[in-house]
Amino acid sequence: MYDYTIIGAGIIGSLIARELSKYDIKVCVLEKENDVANVQTRANSAIVHSGHDPKQGTLKAKLAVWGNELFEDLEKELSISLLRTGAYVCAHDQNEEKMLDDLYQNARLNNVKEMKLLDYKEALIEEPNLSPTITKVLSLPTTKVCFPWEVAFFALENAIKNGVELKRNAKVTDISKINDNYIIKINNQEELLTKNIINATGVYTDDIAKMVNKNIDFKITPRKGEYFVLDKSVKGFINHVLYPLPSKKGKGVLITPQVHGNILLGPTSEFTDNKDDISTSMNGLAYLKEHVSSLASNIPFQLVIRSFSGIRATSTYEDFYIKEDESNQGFYHVAGIDSPGITAAPAIAKYLVNDIIKLNLPEKTNYNPILQKKIVFKDLSDQEKKTKQKENPLYGRIICKCEDITEQEIIDAIKGPLGSQTIKGIKKRARAGSGLCQGGYCESLVLKIIARETNTPLNEINYDQLDTPILLKETKVK
Ligand SMILES: Cc1cc2nc3c(=O)[nH]c(=O)nc-3n(C[C@H](O)[C@H](O)[C@H](O)COP(=O)(O)OP(=O)(O)OC[C@H]3O[C@@H](n4cnc5c(N)ncnc54)[C@H](O)[C@@H]3O)c2cc1C
Repeated sequence: MYDYTIIGAGIIGSLIARELSKYDIKVCVLEKENDVANVQTRANSAIVHSGHDPKQGTLKAKLAVWGNELFEDLEKELSISLLRTGAYVCAHDQNEEKMLDDLYQNARLNNVKEMKLLDYKEALIEEPNLSPTITKVLSLPTTKVCFPWEVAFFALENAIKNGVELKRNAKVTDISKINDNYIIKINNQEELLTKNIINATGVYTDDIAKMVNKNIDFKITPRKGEYFVLDKSVKGFINHVLYPLPSKKGKGVLITPQVHGNILLGPTSEFTDNKDDISTSMNGLAYLKEHVSSLASNIPFQLVIRSFSGIRATSTYEDFYIKEDESNQGFYHVAGIDSPGITAAPAIAKYLVNDIIKLNLPEKTNYNPILQKKIVFKDLSDQEKKTKQKENPLYGRIICKCEDITEQEIIDAIKGPLGSQTIKGIKKRARAGSGLCQGGYCESLVLKIIARETNTPLNEINYDQLDTPILLKETKVK
């Protein structure tokens, strides 16, 4: 019997697990995918927003501003990557300048710090590639960029080290009640008994809610966002996050520098009926190209190395829906977590545990909030590199030439409490395959290393989900 079962291991479930791991209680996380952070947390802009645009007084506004501050603690405790970019919201004419002034007032009421309004010439000093059609910008220095997969992995790994259990490939298919407890059915087979449930299933939060409450008062209306990724050789083209003015469609098509040097162009914003549709489209990408050009001149589209899309868990409630279910005590919904969900995630975890659940327990004496920093070989000094290679020759073998990832870093990504034995899992952890050739060179090498380290036949190594092998059979006779 678990005290708390969290359904969903995106950034929200992972940070809630870490928050609960402070206490002497039994916590389990159930994730339907073969890996953590594989849905919304996989595909987004990675911006830790300042909290400037959610309407004053909403939960989104409060938790975004607080979450932005808490990212500083996550950097200290979990050694996550954080790029302090700042942001410019750009106006193009008198009408938009008026909207920019209103946005400034809204941000001020939300308690966003250090903001400034700049004219075009002032903004150009730090961003020489800003479009000449821009007349005025709102500068938001507290805006940062993170690496959302890493935040989820590191938070959950820290939670596991503090006693939380994780089950992957564990899709919740039914929930029933027995006395004051819940029985969770996993994959229509195994059953798990728990006192409390936290529903952190992103785009599926309404489906999970309906398993216990047919009259739940929110519905997820999924909204797709498509992107282009520019190669990291573009680094420095733009240094701030560039936003257009927000509209009913959200924050608009942005230019966002990423922590590893790439730049993201996007996202679009289109409602869809399909919660799992992560395809990109000619129309979506054409819209993106047209709209992003209002922010910067001479965008180097020739450096596009990939396109992708993600689905926002937008809800009819129009704010974060973080509540105990009205008819089911001990059943908590963390729903409607679309943007700024990455930003707010650390604050959402604290708000849920302290203000909604009101878990009034003493912190356990052996709770350790610190996760040891992982070795990223290319970030070491020349002397440190030499020492590491002497200690371990696997640091001398580069597997991913685009991103300079060594064999030992691939092995580190395979092993450990939150290791992965899939090609995509290694890409998410060690970045092998994230560069210009998109895995064309290193994928076969990674495959062989996974097979060797896990003692698994090559044709049983999956790309991502279960039953997605890359190699099907031998085609050449030796
Ligand atoms: C295009 C786009 C751009 C965005 N940009 C930003 C940004 O720049 N900044 C920002 O702050 N926010 C941004 N967001 C929002 C942010 O990505 C989300 O708010 C955040 O990732 C939500 O995390 P989550 O854990 O709630 O959801 P998810 O990451 O989707 O996690 C939910 C998990 O639940 C699991 N699950 C679902 N059903 C079941 C089941 N039956 N059984 C077991 N497990 C289940 C899923 O597999 C998934 O892993 C963006 C979102 C999108 C789509």
